[in-house]
Amino acid sequence: MITGRFAPSPSGYLHPGNLLCALLAWLSCRSRGGRFIVRIEDLDAGRCPKKYALQALADLDWLGLSSDEDPLWQSQRADVYGAALEQLSRSGHVYPCFCSRAELHASFAPNLGDEVPVYSGKCRGLTPEEIAAKSALRRPALRLAVPDEAVAFTDALQGPYERNLARQCGDFILRRSDGIYAYQLAVVCDDAASGVTEVVRGRDILPSTPQQIYLCRLLGFPVPAYAHIPLLTDSSGRRLSKRDGDISLSALSRRFSREEIVGMLACAAGLLREPRPVTPEQLLPAFSWEKVPKDEARLPAGFIA
Ligand SMILES: [Zn+2]
Repeated sequence: MITGRFAPSPSGYLHPGNLLCALLAWLSCRSRGGRFIVRIEDLDAGRCPKKYALQALADLDWLGLSSDEDPLWQSQRADVYGAALEQLSRSGHVYPCFCSRAELHASFAPNLGDEVPVYSGKCRGLTPEEIAAKSALRRPALRLAVPDEAVAFTDALQGPYERNLARQCGDFILRRSDGIYAYQLAVVCDDAASGVTEVVRGRDILPSTPQQIYLCRLLGFPVPAYAHIPLLTDSSGRRLSKRDGDISLSALSRRFSREEIVGMLACAAGLLREPRPVTPEQLLPAFSWEKVPKDEARLPAGFIA
């Protein structure tokens, strides 16, 4: 069974880029008879007030992109992530990191033209005595020790992609020092629990996908297919930002019908030549990843007031 998902992190209202992602995730699985689920990524519950999550679910319903199952809420799944962490610890892949933010900043190894700073591995070789002494002073973060090994996959949209775990990602955090589980760990546990077979999300997440694939392998989870979608821009190719004013769905819905909004997103995604009112269902026959641009999805003029 093909299962797609949309997993917003509701620290605010959904923006048009989120809506594009939800639409493409829905079209990709539905066009092949699959099911579509929504997950609320509120791991850091303090930063994700419930009202935003509830509004996100209402927005998706309004657009016709409802979840086929009750959404999972990451804030309620600490036990699942804890069990996965325990499994990784038992197999010797996890170590405590006591570095402060300032120490991390100073110790980041020079990276290879990469946007993600690579952890130096400073705490990897601590002795049990050193760990005990440091633990008395502060609660550590927990990191995954990664091998000097490349992880490669082929993205439905971006094509072949590869990263060396040790050199380009570094030992990454599984649980923060404040006890909050890392996104990387939660995502793979949740996708496996829901039987997700394809992940559609923003291209900004592409660099961390090899880390998630590696975690899947260690935990014995199937690796889903991936499609990393382009950034949504205005009609001049400029990235949407706060300067564009209120571009929440409730603000857009005062100017456009839901079919007009879906049509403009579909136009940005290359699925329509000109914007016109459509429902998600009406887009199904024409959907193909080959039509979706790789680098930039431009909204038609008039979408941003
Ligand atoms: Zn450290």
